[in-house]
Amino acid sequence: MIIGILGGGQLARMMALAGHPLGHRFVFLDPAPDACAAPLGELLVASYDDQNALAQLARQVDVVTFDFENVPAASLAFLAEKISVFPPPAALQAAQDRLVEKNLFRQLGIATADYVAVASRDDLTQAVARLGLPAILKTRTQGYDGKGQWLLRTQADVAHAWSELAGRAAILEAFIAFEREVSAIGVKGQCGETLFYPLAENTHRDGVLFQTLSTADDPMQVRAEQQTSLLLAALDYVGVIAVEFFQVGDNLLANEFAPRVHNSGHWTIEGAETSQFENHLRAVTGQPLGQTVARGHFAMLNLLGAMPDAQAVLAIPGAHLHDYGKAPRAGRKLGHITLNCGDRTPVLPDKLLDLL
Ligand code: AMP
Repeated sequence: MIIGILGGGQLARMMALAGHPLGHRFVFLDPAPDACAAPLGELLVASYDDQNALAQLARQVDVVTFDFENVPAASLAFLAEKISVFPPPAALQAAQDRLVEKNLFRQLGIATADYVAVASRDDLTQAVARLGLPAILKTRTQGYDGKGQWLLRTQADVAHAWSELAGRAAILEAFIAFEREVSAIGVKGQCGETLFYPLAENTHRDGVLFQTLSTADDPMQVRAEQQTSLLLAALDYVGVIAVEFFQVGDNLLANEFAPRVHNSGHWTIEGAETSQFENHLRAVTGQPLGQTVARGHFAMLNLLGAMPDAQAVLAIPGAHLHDYGKAPRAGRKLGHITLNCGDRTPVLPDKLLDLL
């Protein structure tokens, strides 16, 4: 099949890498002429709301999916009138707005941190009075990787964040002193079959994912799958989904979901019977899903801002290097390393961390 992907970043690139062996071809639409997926298919350079380019994409491909969240919902709706779009545009719309997303979790009985919508300075004052400090202020839209959010510890932080917010709609969230962050990655096919990968345990630095460790027989696995399944059913979902949870005691609080393949699932390329990328493609093209069982214990490390010496990384037994072919820039996701830890508990060895 010919698969159209809105967005030509590393997720699109890894989808294409998984899709070529299945005989698929790819057309990416991305405003950046140097989009890193480009070597793996045809690139249409256009903005995401360019209707001529969207119409051309629809003519060229059999199905459309997307590799990031900030594609305008109207563009997906436009495409959906012409061609199949998976995951469904409604899922993207819900994930684009933190207030809609959290309301959806709550409607489905999925617990979240307490939150209050903030549209004015008065709202913020009242929200802080209600939730207390510390709290986290987040823009409702366009936020990712810790951007568009402020940790508020003092009234001075509140004033500072309000001025930086610059009138954008936001939500204030109670600060959760969680024990762990885990993500559930599931995949649902067009006939409704649903599979989950083992939970991933995530560590963030400055709001950006730093490392993921795959888990085995995680005590929260069943609950995370149940909660994610509620979302899959409500959204009439097809494709891979990732739901990020905070664990507090025996409880899971849903933080957000991504209607796409996810950074915390990169370990599945080497670590699972079928990677999240292949399974996403199998789902959106109506093929049977592949098994999601792990092939051992895996750790994944994001490479941000600069690439380490490839020779040194590859000299570490069990290490696999993924270079997305992107120009280095401070904080930019340039690649990742997967470490096969065999039957040992996954952990990143110091000799690997020292290379960064
Ligand atoms: P997000 O963009 O919502 O995924 O937030 C990025 C990271 O900030 C999360 O992965 C957490 O590590 C942290 N974070 C977000 N919301 C909260 C919260 N309510 N309480 C504590 N930490 C949070």
